[in-house]
Amino acid sequence: MTATPANLLDFDLEGLAAFCETLGEKRFRAVQLFRWIHQKGESDFERMSDLAKSLREKLKGAAQVQGLQPISQQESADGTIKWLFDVGGGDGIEAVYIPEDDRATLCISSQAGCAVGCRFCSTGHQGFSRNLTTGEIVAQLWFAEHLLRKRLGTSERVISNVVMMGMGEPLQNYAALVPALRTMLHDHGYGLSRRRLTVSTSGVVPMMDRLGQDCPVALAVSLHAPNDALRDQLVPLNRKYPLAELLDACNRYLAFAPRDFITFEYCMLDGVNDQPEHAAQLVEYVRHHAGRGVSCKLNLIPFNPFPASGLLRSPQPRVQAFAKMLSDAGIVTTVRKTRGDDIAAACGQLAGDVKDRTRVGERIARQRTITLHPAQPRHAPAPADSAAKGD
Ligand code: SAH
Ligand code: SF4
Repeated sequence: MTATPANLLDFDLEGLAAFCETLGEKRFRAVQLFRWIHQKGESDFERMSDLAKSLREKLKGAAQVQGLQPISQQESADGTIKWLFDVGGGDGIEAVYIPEDDRATLCISSQAGCAVGCRFCSTGHQGFSRNLTTGEIVAQLWFAEHLLRKRLGTSERVISNVVMMGMGEPLQNYAALVPALRTMLHDHGYGLSRRRLTVSTSGVVPMMDRLGQDCPVALAVSLHAPNDALRDQLVPLNRKYPLAELLDACNRYLAFAPRDFITFEYCMLDGVNDQPEHAAQLVEYVRHHAGRGVSCKLNLIPFNPFPASGLLRSPQPRVQAFAKMLSDAGIVTTVRKTRGDDIAAACGQLAGDVKDRTRVGERIARQRTITLHPAQPRHAPAPADSAAKGD
């Protein structure tokens, strides 16, 4: 019987140890293997020189290290790089690398499409296609980290922060998410600190509780509205988990979180959620919810417009006035500087020019013909802030 070879990117270290046992190998072999794959970026078992030959032989029959095929790589003048990966079935997912002076962040996807269907999100407008596997989530980091190391000529870690702010709702792909997070956190993997690994959610309350128990990392919550009537419209999941429940879940999460605050993301939409009364309601909520408020930072995101949304970006003075009202009330507030504007690479703008999945398929076909050339690294100035991206 010839079973499909296991993709070793699907396993966290614990899973890999269990897999090694099924091959009749000692669990500690998994550590060597895990380090070869994630720390050295090696996918060829033959080149894993300190693994016993007998193990290499067994692996060749039973396993593979299956990464993702990049279809395109676009570089912005500010050093941001966006990759489109083919995940089969006409679906593409994107990852974005954002270099800054004091950190380098990779924004990655958790699903092809998204079922939440937020009004202002191009991924939401695409609809849901499928969950990514653990291997497909990890492969975005595996690919980017080792490509960048080669380009920069270093064996040191390049990516210091990972944010799950690409396509998809990570907490609606929980089973695949958690082993991926564990691989990113593990010292034998990517060694990210929990504070520098951020899950962003539109508010899947029960899964926020589970994440707090299973794998607490930094949490960003996409708020976007200061009352249920408006949030129901913008983030349909609010009808299931309204604001009061969401903020209760934030407070429960804080008991486990690696940081002592939640980052609230708030996408500024012209005339929709950017008025002084919205700022006042927001202040009221985060300071007084359930009698004690929620320890948080506010990250105001300039909306990345796309035609199908019918929405516009709030003018800069209105964003500043909104930010000032929050700051004056003692809430730490930042305005996210857009990055990679020229390649539509800001998180939340992924697949921004794609209206439906058929078009993704066409784009994949078209871009398959483009050859990738490694370019020279560029360094961009630090943005004004990046609260959600960790320290
Ligand atoms: N599904 C998760 C994570 C992916 S979206 C979530 O919603 O949090 C990552 C962030 O990008 C979210 O805060 C989302 O609201 C924001 N976003 C989506 N579309 C956007 C757009 N067109 N302009 C600006 N931000 C957007
Ligand atoms: Fe999904 Fe997040 Fe986009 Fe909403 S903002 S549709 S949850 S990816």
